[in-house]
Amino acid sequence: MRLTTKIFIGLLLGAVVGLILHFSAPSLFETLDNYVFSLLGTLFLNLIKMLVVPIVFFSIVLGTASLGDPKKLGRIGGKTVAFFLATTTIAITIALVLAYLFQPGKTGIDTTGATFESREAPTVVETFTNIIPVNPIQSLAEGNMLQIIAFSIFVGFALAMLGKKTEGVLRLMEQGNDIMMFLVNLIMRFAPYGAFGLLASAIGTMGLDGAKAMASYMLVVLAGLVIHAVITYGTAVSLLGKMNPVHFLKGFFPAMTVGFSTSSSSATLPVSMKTAQENLNVPKSISSFVQPLGSTINMDGTAIMQGVATVFIAQVYAVDLSFSQLLMVVLVAVLASIGTAGVPGVGLIMLAMVLTQVSLPVEGIALIIGIDRLLDMTRTALNVTGDAACAVVVAESEKKHQDGEENPQQLHA
Ligand code: ASP
Repeated sequence: MRLTTKIFIGLLLGAVVGLILHFSAPSLFETLDNYVFSLLGTLFLNLIKMLVVPIVFFSIVLGTASLGDPKKLGRIGGKTVAFFLATTTIAITIALVLAYLFQPGKTGIDTTGATFESREAPTVVETFTNIIPVNPIQSLAEGNMLQIIAFSIFVGFALAMLGKKTEGVLRLMEQGNDIMMFLVNLIMRFAPYGAFGLLASAIGTMGLDGAKAMASYMLVVLAGLVIHAVITYGTAVSLLGKMNPVHFLKGFFPAMTVGFSTSSSSATLPVSMKTAQENLNVPKSISSFVQPLGSTINMDGTAIMQGVATVFIAQVYAVDLSFSQLLMVVLVAVLASIGTAGVPGVGLIMLAMVLTQVSLPVEGIALIIGIDRLLDMTRTALNVTGDAACAVVVAESEKKHQDGEENPQQLHA
């Protein structure tokens, strides 16, 4: 049986077992959750998280080094960031249009007792100035992704410039990367059990209570995610990436299931890179550059949730947002999704930044927090898909530049 099928079965079984236990044997669920479900889930999560920092470091160093000259690096970097910004803007626009069409917040939701302690979201300026690490070892130790990316780009660039002189280090990086990829393959065999544990634990804890009350909000977010995946990415990969969108979605599906079960773009990164390289034929050098960057700054699913949530909260509190406020939502949500770390639940914290910007009550977040765990899974699946779509598009657009250019990493691969 293929691994994807196994993961899928794990997810389904987990959901079914979680639901049954939630309704028929809550105390048995608690025991099983403590000793089995959470254990399996956390074990799997930790195993893949263990690889994230080294993979981001090795792959971005190699990706940058193999892009070689500054011109190529700038070209690919520019295309990548442009794609991320464009698709995220489209994502929020879809979210806002859907939220206005279906008005999920006008269904008489009770706001009494809604309180939410917002954690301090970093400001935009802070996010940008913090990108350059003062101490790269500390960034690696703390897993500060943007800083690790910045440092790795510098190191990769230096390797490319120094050429023969630093050949040894380049080989070391390649071998380090090979070790990590080998471990990804190994750990993925455990994915079906991990997915089972994560789902059983999440669904068993939540049941469907929250889902019923918030059905309209959830459905609008889900509709946004599906429309964005099918229409935006579908069009992008077929027009710009010259790839059949069905092939794209099918080929990338294994990584989506991991995004879904882990709710973390970062944790999914090792799998999404492997999937894009093997199933979608994205060259290593491009995948190694685009996807780690995307898993840190490109969060279309999160942006969709933030767009719908903002309008939802405005509707619940009967606040009319002006057109210029909506533009502000688009702008801030793009920035918020860049600032959102690829770990579970951060999108909701960053929502506070969007709400504050347009003077909506931050307590509104309390209304959606109950079902956010579930939506986090779905939006993370979309987040990682967006990075892969970008990798496919950039890879295609680079084909015309490839003649006569040597790509050391691909040769090695
Ligand atoms: N969990 C999401 C991710 O890792 C981020 C978020 O929206 O909370 O992609």
